[in-house]
Amino acid sequence: MHQPGQVDTEGTDCVLVIDDAPEVHRLLAFHLSREELKCISAYDGPEGLSVARSRLPAAIILDLDMPGMDGLSVLRALKADEGTQNVPVLILAREQNAERKVECFEAGASDFIGKPFEFAELRMRLRSLLRTHRLFRLLAQRAQVDGLTGLWNRAFFDSRWSEEFARNSRQGHPLSLAMLDIDHFKRINDTHGHATGDVVLVGIAKMLSREGRRTDLVCRYGGEEFAIIMPDTPPGEAMNVCERIRAAICATTWEFRKTPPVTASVGVAGCRAKASVNAETWVQMADANLYVAKRGGRNRVVLGEVPPVDGSFRIAG
Ligand code: GH3
Ligand code: MG
Ligand code: MG
Repeated sequence: MHQPGQVDTEGTDCVLVIDDAPEVHRLLAFHLSREELKCISAYDGPEGLSVARSRLPAAIILDLDMPGMDGLSVLRALKADEGTQNVPVLILAREQNAERKVECFEAGASDFIGKPFEFAELRMRLRSLLRTHRLFRLLAQRAQVDGLTGLWNRAFFDSRWSEEFARNSRQGHPLSLAMLDIDHFKRINDTHGHATGDVVLVGIAKMLSREGRRTDLVCRYGGEEFAIIMPDTPPGEAMNVCERIRAAICATTWEFRKTPPVTASVGVAGCRAKASVNAETWVQMADANLYVAKRGGRNRVVLGEVPPVDGSFRIAG
């Protein structure tokens, strides 16, 4: 799940049916299995909500007329929950007047079908809903991936960095951030052309993915600068990972020139416990260490510890 290539856009083709009538479940389970769709069942609103949250189905078929919590309230709760709001919902209703339909669509329903229904029609509507939803997920994923290198892009970095920072603030888990910049990259472009520069960017991106650990989030921050978010990693450990990456880059032989090797400089800012700075300052600290590495002669890693708040000593770094 940590590199973009591994983002799952398939495989979630199970459909949750929320209906108080057992015969609807029997009928749908039978027909959907012939469509290679897995059917999971919930018999009332609260159960449906909890299954939707835990299983994240590809679509939900929801009965509007249920005792207790009715379908419209379930729909509103699904759409209000960040985890389930993008799951498409097809409404089943015994009585279908225009006002009711409008209410459902306004609450976020994707489609509406009357009871009793012809399975052929439900099947067609469900297929189209699943197709649109799959496309939506694919686009959402693409919007976070860098086109040239296939790494996570800047938009992903920004949202994930705030999440990891929030986790550090809340629970005091160690966290480190590395900023890596290719040395004298402009010279490569100027001497060997932009296409060769691109080959180097792609090659270095591959090395970062290979040398980083499974839990590291490698992003293209912009141009020839990369950011690596290292969750649950104290500064000392982050330093070791970055040093290994730096050495691997420097030891690589390229086709376009034998010497000098392509090198990179790295600035690390890490904290072993709850940090005393905000997310933005943390990035600036990593960047400042990168510039110390550049000024110190390039091809090196410079580590700086982010001071923890007083009394926060969860794990020694
Ligand atoms: P330093 O060691 O100080 O980092 O020097 P540098 O030459 O690497 O840094 P500088 O910021 O002067 O130049 C970075 C160059 O990266 C300039 C820009 O044209 C190039 N660049 C940015 N994005 C891309 C890209 O996608 N492909 C290629 N080929 N070049 C890029
Ligand atoms: Mg550079
Ligand atoms: Mg740069």
